[in-house]
Amino acid sequence: MSRYAPVVPAALLALALTACTGTAVEGTPGGSGAGDPYFPHAGNGGYDVTHYGLTLSYTPGTRQLTGRAAITARATQDLSAFDLDLRGLTVGQVTVDGTAARWNRAGQELTVRPRDGLAEGRTFRVAVRYSGTPATITDPDGSQEGWLPTDDGALALGQPVGSMAWYPGNHHPSDKAAYDITVTVPRGLRAVSNGELRAERTTGGRTTATWRTRRPMASYLATLAIGRYDVTRTVTPRGLPVHTAVDPAEAAASRAVLARVPEVLAWAEDLFGPYPFASAGAIVERPGDAGYALETQNRPVFPGAPDTGLLVHELAHQWYGNSVTPASWRDMWLNEGFATYAEWLWTEEHGGDTAQQVFDQLYAGTRYAVPAENEAVWSFPPANPPDAAHVSGRPVYDRGAMVLHRVRRTLADETAFRALLRGWSAAHRHANASTADFTAYVERRAPGKDFDEVWKEWLYGEGRPRQP
Ligand SMILES: [Zn+2]
Repeated sequence: MSRYAPVVPAALLALALTACTGTAVEGTPGGSGAGDPYFPHAGNGGYDVTHYGLTLSYTPGTRQLTGRAAITARATQDLSAFDLDLRGLTVGQVTVDGTAARWNRAGQELTVRPRDGLAEGRTFRVAVRYSGTPATITDPDGSQEGWLPTDDGALALGQPVGSMAWYPGNHHPSDKAAYDITVTVPRGLRAVSNGELRAERTTGGRTTATWRTRRPMASYLATLAIGRYDVTRTVTPRGLPVHTAVDPAEAAASRAVLARVPEVLAWAEDLFGPYPFASAGAIVERPGDAGYALETQNRPVFPGAPDTGLLVHELAHQWYGNSVTPASWRDMWLNEGFATYAEWLWTEEHGGDTAQQVFDQLYAGTRYAVPAENEAVWSFPPANPPDAAHVSGRPVYDRGAMVLHRVRRTLADETAFRALLRGWSAAHRHANASTADFTAYVERRAPGKDFDEVWKEWLYGEGRPRQP
C-alpha cells in the first residue's frame, strides 16, 4: 500500500499549524485503500462520498477528456489529508471547500491535503480539474475496462476498478453516492450515462447532456457511452421510463429483444420486489466495443444485441449488485450467483429447462460443450476466489447460482424461497451486503432448517461437493 507521503516537511507543517487561528484540526491521513482483500488500493479511508458532480468534455478525434469533479463527502475521522483514486490523466487544480489544496500523486492515489484539517463528521467539497487521454485498463483476468475508445466515440466501463480512468473518486463498491454527470461532445454525437436525462442541448458545434442519478450508485456501475445512437424513450405499463441507446449498426438486431425490457422488468418485480431505480434502459454498442456486457446502473451495456437470457441477467443485477451491492470484491457471487439464477428462473418459467435440470447438468459436467468449462465450475469456492484474477471466474456465476438452488431445495418451500429473494433485496436496498450478511439472513428467515452443508460445501468448500 502506498500510504500517504507528506507533501511538506513536518517542520513547515508545524509552523503552518501554529499560524492558524485555532480552528485547525490535527487529524491523520485517511489511508489509501478501503480494505478490499483483492484490490487493496481501491477506495480510500477516512471519508464517505455522498455526491459526485462531474462536468466533462470529450473529443473522440483527439481522445482528449477535460473534466471537473466536484465531490461532496463527509469525514469519518479527523483528517489531515485524504486520497482519491485516479489512474493517469493530468491534474490541474484541487480545491477543498473552494480553497486551493496541496496535492500529490503516487500511482493511482491522488493525495489531497486541505489547508485546514477536516473534523470528523464534517461535510466538505473537493473539486479536481483534470485533463488528458483516459486509459484503458487491463484487469488481472485479462479483460479490458476503464476507457474504451470506439469507432464513433468511447465507452466507459468500471468493473472492478475502471472508473478511476475517467474521474477521481472513492472507487470501491462500499462507498455509494448520487451523481450528476454533464458531458459535452461534438455535435452529431450523444453522451449517454446513468440515471435520468435532465437536459440535452446543442450550441455551436457541441452537444451537452446532463444525467442525474439520485439513488446511490457504486462507482464501478457508472458508465459513459459517447457515439452515434438510435435513442428510444418509452414508459412501461407500470410507469417506469425506459431509455435505450443503440448503435445504428445493432438497431435491427436489438429491436425485438429490447422490446421485451418492460416484460422482463415486470417479471423481475414480481419475483425480486419493486424495481430499485427511477428509470431503466440499455446501451447497445458494437460487438467489438467491449469484451463483455455490464450491468451499469439503470442502463446495462451490451457489446452487440443481447439475447433474452443476457438481458434477464443484466436487468436482474439492478436488484442484485446495483441496489444490494457487494461489501467487497470477495462478495461478487452475491451479484453473479443471483443474476445467473435469475436466468435459470426465467428459463424455468418460460418453457425451458428447470433450475434443477441446469443444476444437474452442471453437476454432471454436461452443461458446456468444452470439458474445461464444466471442470472450471469446481475450480474454487464461490465465496472465496483465490485472487483478483478470479473474482469474475466461472464458480462465482454457476456455482453461486447452485448455492441459491441448494438454499431453495433446503427450504423445500417455494413460497418461502420467493419471500427470501424479495426479502434479501429489500433488506439491503440501496446499501451493501457481504456473504456473512447473506448466510445470517437465510438462517434468520428459516431457523428450523439446516444450511450447514450448503455453506460448508457449496459456498466455501474446495472441489465438487458430494451429490446432494
Ligand atoms: Zn453478471
